[in-house]
Amino acid sequence: MSQTIAALSAVEVDYPRRGRALGPVDLTLRAGEIVALVGPSGCGKSTALRLLAGLEQPSRGEVTRATGKGETAVVFQAATLAPWLSALDNVALPLDLAGEKRPEARIAAADALTRVGLGDALNARPAQLSGGMAMRVSLARALVTRPRLLLLDEPFAALDEITRRVLADDVLALAADLTPAVVFVTHNVEEAVYMAARVVVMTPGPGLIAGEVIIDAPLVRPPGFRTTEAFRQAAETVSGLLARAGTRAA
Ligand code: ADP
Repeated sequence: MSQTIAALSAVEVDYPRRGRALGPVDLTLRAGEIVALVGPSGCGKSTALRLLAGLEQPSRGEVTRATGKGETAVVFQAATLAPWLSALDNVALPLDLAGEKRPEARIAAADALTRVGLGDALNARPAQLSGGMAMRVSLARALVTRPRLLLLDEPFAALDEITRRVLADDVLALAADLTPAVVFVTHNVEEAVYMAARVVVMTPGPGLIAGEVIIDAPLVRPPGFRTTEAFRQAAETVSGLLARAGTRAA
């Protein structure tokens, strides 16, 4: 078994007045593993991600995290780039903030941008980038510290279907190369099955784990994977779990 990178153990989250929002939930993430969290709006997916990011504390239970500098990176739905900085400077920002030397930070940022296919756009400003390109810059910025845990909160929700599919393949190639543990939140069953080695289905509030589906395929998906019987069956199993959990993904 590869190394445990992060874990939620019997974790529960209560919000004042609202009561229980999540849990109890157990989830272990191992190096190189890609896990999708699927469930209806409000079931606690983002809360689970915030716990793993260390942005929030559980009411009960224990969170184990990769806590070193730059070991956890988060990408949100909107590509939150600084509009006055070039793509290169946006990606270098986490290293600049960590006090790394400027030339070294620029070399690492250029490398990260090249990895996401933007080696030609180092000097572009965010306003000059398409939505897909801006999301690529966000991914490069998340990868520049070589995180052990990469958290993606509906990263492609604002993008068109074709761009989503290209980015899904990009994330898989990056994950195969850099082997962080990846957790991503999505509403989209097909996207979850395409990108994850393990799809975790959650119930509506309070969020519990309804079940898990293991996707048994090479991490870099073979051509035509979406049209295979294995893909269709896995998507049906995930949809069945969602239906039985009393909901359908929106
Ligand atoms: P999801 O990501 O699955 O849509 P969230 O994790 O955002 O769900 O939210 C889970 C539940 O907790 C929801 O009912 C939401 O309204 C509630 N919630 C989330 N954050 C807070 C907060 N800071 N204060 C109060 N309630 C919250």
